[in-house]
Amino acid sequence: LSERLGGVFDRLTKQGALSEDDVRVALREVRVALLEADVSLPVARDFVKAVETKATGQAVTRSVTPGQQVVKIVHDELVKVLSGDTDPGTLKIDNPPAPILMVGLQGSGKTTTTAKLARRLKEREKKRVLMASLDTNRPAAMEQLAILGTQIGVDTLPIVKGESAVQIAKRAKQQATLGGYDVYMLDTAGRLHIDEVLMDEVQAVRDVASPRETLLVVDGLTGQDAVNVATEFDGKVGITGVVLTRMDGDGRGGAALSMRAVTGKPIRFVGLGEKMDALETFEASRVAGRILGMGDIVALVEKAQETLEMEQAERMMKRFQKGLFNMNDLKSQLEQMLKMGGMQGLMGMMPGMGKMQKQAEEAGFDDGVLRRQIALINSMTKKERANPDLLQASRKKRIAAGAGLEVSDLNKLLKMHRQMADMMKKMGKMGKGGMLKQAMK
Ligand code: GDP
Ligand code: MG
Repeated sequence: LSERLGGVFDRLTKQGALSEDDVRVALREVRVALLEADVSLPVARDFVKAVETKATGQAVTRSVTPGQQVVKIVHDELVKVLSGDTDPGTLKIDNPPAPILMVGLQGSGKTTTTAKLARRLKEREKKRVLMASLDTNRPAAMEQLAILGTQIGVDTLPIVKGESAVQIAKRAKQQATLGGYDVYMLDTAGRLHIDEVLMDEVQAVRDVASPRETLLVVDGLTGQDAVNVATEFDGKVGITGVVLTRMDGDGRGGAALSMRAVTGKPIRFVGLGEKMDALETFEASRVAGRILGMGDIVALVEKAQETLEMEQAERMMKRFQKGLFNMNDLKSQLEQMLKMGGMQGLMGMMPGMGKMQKQAEEAGFDDGVLRRQIALINSMTKKERANPDLLQASRKKRIAAGAGLEVSDLNKLLKMHRQMADMMKKMGKMGKGGMLKQAMK
């Protein structure tokens, strides 16, 4: 499919602005890609329509083909739709003991995900977690959670035969409070299909526990049905997020887009295997690439981005010619260097930079240094970046601490910035379009 897409995009003509035809032709293929990735039909249709409006008439970026540009717009839009406004990996677990309710169809991966999440909370956030299985239909399911608990070193609520799900939930709450747990997780029973009995039970459990987070666990291979599952659970129980499991398989993860678009609830985690450490925080750009079909498409997008970066470099050159060089400029330079494999690249291209290049080599300039310098700049406020003269002692301390470094590291960066700014100023004076332009050719 991505080959087909690439072909279509190559055929698009290059004009001043994206024409309706350009966009329509490209988006027809995007729609097919979405459907093949198991995005539900109405969601795919709405998504394509939104992109169409956005893309048509947009000025064609110089040196990017219209097709590449449409792909980039599609990709960016997909990332935007998939991303929530909050950090997906952070669970609301203040006010201990915080209840987390796990819901979903049978076999979706609830029990496995419950244990994976418990492990994550224990290891990363040093939380004391209690897990309880509410799966009264299948004694084996309770055993399964207990075994996983032992394996990851997380307590499970002792099994008492004959209790109802609500009774177990009450006991879990009690035990979590008495035992001083930070979090208790309720792993509910599933059904093969949504039915009243299942929903009634989950609702009753919800009313007893008042969960801080209710996570819907969905098999990432679920196709068109994902929308129904998400709509039903969100409508009847109210969910705070979705966990997509089996993303280690061949599925393209279209369910993510469907569920996100229909419920508005964020995807929080992704299951990538049966092992207890196979759980990752959801990353929109990754899943977007996957839905679009990876390979060629992502490469196309990257190519488009590269070209955009070239244009950014040209813009920067114009700033330098005017003698402008603030911390944002320095940051772009450092990032560029990192990409080009170190200091050599950029400095070597500029006449008069030989001396600095040598200095840099002597100072042991490596990727680590570049990354630390970028971290320092990231730690500055907008104002500080635009005007490094603002940096007095207390600000310096804050910035260094923010980057996890010393003030002396920051001073080195500031010295380098001053030298480079001076250099830029001198070169700018030597004549517009003179040396610098030559050097960039
Ligand atoms: P439940 O019925 O919803 O509690 O589902 P389970 O947690 O018992 O999982 C059902 C099966 O799916 C088990 O064999 C799990 O090992 C497997 N499973 C769960 N999550 C993943 C995942 O992310 N990737 C893969 N490959 N298998 C998974
Ligand atoms: Mg289970």
